[in-house]
Amino acid sequence: MKKIIIAIDGHSSCGKSTLARDLARELGYAYIDTGAMYRAVTLFFLEHQVDWNNPEAVREALNEIRIEFRVTEAGNQTVLNGEIVESTIRDMRVSDQVSQVSTVSAVRRAMVSQQQAMGHKRGVVLDGRDIGTVVFPDAELKIFLTASPEERVRRRFTELQAKGIAASEKQVRENLLERDRIDSTREDSPLKQAADARILDNTHLDRWQQLALALKWVREVQGI
Ligand code: C5P
Repeated sequence: MKKIIIAIDGHSSCGKSTLARDLARELGYAYIDTGAMYRAVTLFFLEHQVDWNNPEAVREALNEIRIEFRVTEAGNQTVLNGEIVESTIRDMRVSDQVSQVSTVSAVRRAMVSQQQAMGHKRGVVLDGRDIGTVVFPDAELKIFLTASPEERVRRRFTELQAKGIAASEKQVRENLLERDRIDSTREDSPLKQAADARILDNTHLDRWQQLALALKWVREVQGI
């Protein structure tokens, strides 16, 4: 069966990674969580006090950063320079800065070229903000995921609580809306719907309903 690239874009916390993981599992594809890559860079910058407004410091730091994904029994794990950082990169400390770091063009160039190298053989699902527009504009299936802001805040808050990550609902709302604002208005690769993306509003859909719809689209583009 023809292997394709599935690009999932959308605002923060609308369930992109859940859909991406579910699709990857169903199809036997690799999953690339591109947000985790920007988060890992942000964690490195914070831990090493890298001034991301200084191009030379950014260039040097990017040379030191190695990001990989490891699949373990606990799921997809983001690995930064050999260390599993899957939970640390979800901290509010990282969440509060990641969108600023993601406006830096040198950071974007480095991440985009790694993502393109990881996905070039196809048979991958990627989620992020610029996948269908910049990383893989030739992806066979592009999904633009949306959900109401209230629902997104509720989901993110519940998720953080379940993981034992400290944050108030107010903090979660402010962080989410601020990241949406920065991500949509930045100069380099702003979040926007690709002209050929299919919109999936999952405000009133559960996980399995959204998966069924996306799988129907996969079969459509595969001509099955
Ligand atoms: O997907 P997640 O919410 O973990 O992404 C964290 C942040 O990384 C986003 O708010 C955005 O600023 C940045 N990002 C990006 N481009 C991507 C994926 C994420 O700029 N492809």
